[in-house]
Amino acid sequence: MSFSSSSPLDVLQQVFGYDSFRGNQHEIIEHVVNGGDALVLKPTGGGKSLCYQIPALVRKGTGIVVSPLIALMQDQVDALLELGVRAAFLNSTLDWREARQVEQAFRAGQLDVLYVAPERLLTERCLALLEEGDIALFAIDEAHCVSQWGHDFRPEYLGLSLLAERWPQVPRIALTATATTATRHEIIQRLGLEQAGLFISSFDRPNICYRMVEKREVKRQLLDFIQSEHREDCGVVYALSRSRVEDTAEFLARNGIAALPYHAGLSATQRAQNQARFLREEGVVMVATIAFGMGIDKPDVRFVAHIDMPKSVEGYYQETGRAGRDGLPATAWLAYGLQDVVQQRRMIDESTGDEVFRRRSAAQLDAMLGLCETVDCRRQRLLAYFDQAIGPCGNCDVCLSPPESWDGTVAAQKLLSAVYRLWRERGQRFGAIHLIDILRGKSTDRIRQNQHDALSVFGVGKDLSEQAWRGVLRQLLARNILAVDQEGYGTLALTDESRAVLKGDATLMLRKETLDARKTRPARQR
Ligand code: ADP
Ligand code: ZN
Repeated sequence: MSFSSSSPLDVLQQVFGYDSFRGNQHEIIEHVVNGGDALVLKPTGGGKSLCYQIPALVRKGTGIVVSPLIALMQDQVDALLELGVRAAFLNSTLDWREARQVEQAFRAGQLDVLYVAPERLLTERCLALLEEGDIALFAIDEAHCVSQWGHDFRPEYLGLSLLAERWPQVPRIALTATATTATRHEIIQRLGLEQAGLFISSFDRPNICYRMVEKREVKRQLLDFIQSEHREDCGVVYALSRSRVEDTAEFLARNGIAALPYHAGLSATQRAQNQARFLREEGVVMVATIAFGMGIDKPDVRFVAHIDMPKSVEGYYQETGRAGRDGLPATAWLAYGLQDVVQQRRMIDESTGDEVFRRRSAAQLDAMLGLCETVDCRRQRLLAYFDQAIGPCGNCDVCLSPPESWDGTVAAQKLLSAVYRLWRERGQRFGAIHLIDILRGKSTDRIRQNQHDALSVFGVGKDLSEQAWRGVLRQLLARNILAVDQEGYGTLALTDESRAVLKGDATLMLRKETLDARKTRPARQR
């Protein structure tokens, strides 16, 4: 089939069967059709594929699409073939005979679109092959994989800079849904896109309602959330470890939810099977590590739940972005607690990365904590992270039911004094639970053994519940007024910021704990 005399709009309508372009698709497509390089930032579900598929059809030659998602190439190619587009892929799943056929078709100019895995593309054999055919464009999908700081870094992506050197006249279009300024600059620099047109779309996903609750019995809370708001709905639950994935999937299944596990420890067959059921059946809840989801196009995911705090706002945005791609109301629900903060701070301290890596990880974690603890609109905060300014959204827990705040200065002083005295007077450091026991004047074995009932701070915090203290502690940690000790073990230590609070130079407004998630539930619109 030839479309080289057709306009992009003709192709959109006649090949893809859509009436009109979405957002800035037309602008991007024209730019690339005319031979310009482009960097396209669009949220998941924003319609990135057409931005290179249509120019690949309109321009002479084959569009080469570099994608790390080998598992999805078959599906993408099948979908195009069904539309009458001559598409194929080259990756490790083909045997040599099949690969040979694809290569011949390319040489003969019989392909409109060819998907290639990056490691394959960079082989001499493949580069030589490309020299023998006509190339319409290079599309570099999931371009953030070139970022060494991102969670999806692929070393092969660094080699892609040679495309510009070897084929300077062929337009390149890089696409990603990851959009912090830092990542954007890194993509531009590493892929040599300084001259490229920059196309940035809004990252707002207005149909997603963002909610964050304090973690208590998280599995119960999750079950309660699903049963009361998303019964029979399809959803994804993210957890940080394999064992938590297994455990949670089992718990949900026992309680009548069609839940399946997904993590890298399962066999490839098992993973493929669970993924297929998630895609085809209705109302399946996938409990997964972040290994699950990249490139999965299921429009009717009604909720994404996090039962462990993600490591960065970018990760959180990506993962929650898999909800509600059909534009209908969806929920992003997250439960986080003191333990998340302590654990992640510790993981960073104990990581083998260098100083720069640690500082960057710590900054990412701080931004995520800031989002969890904010008393302003969540969406405002989230989009500000992507340099996008909006007003309060009306569709997040903070907007729907503004959290109360309280003057926590005195409470914080009590807590910090306890940490200070333990260290100064006894040379000891303890973790959160024990500190709270001291403040609340509890008589545990550990208190008696250490004679902590003799401390002047023993029992000075009886006025607050254990839960309230956990909230104070968590918020102090989130604001770096208290630190997880570098030595590990999750013990707590003072920081430079502690002094101002201890001296009474600063008033500390704290967020009251959100006790009941359902209080903030918006009226259901479906
Ligand atoms: P992304 O790669 O940005 O996550 P996709 O390219 O997979 O998004 O597009 C998401 C969905 O939107 C797909 O089902 C696609 O067919 C659909 N879509 C894209 N552009 C249009 C359009 N102009 N009109 C209607 N549907 C579109
Ligand atoms: Zn809001």
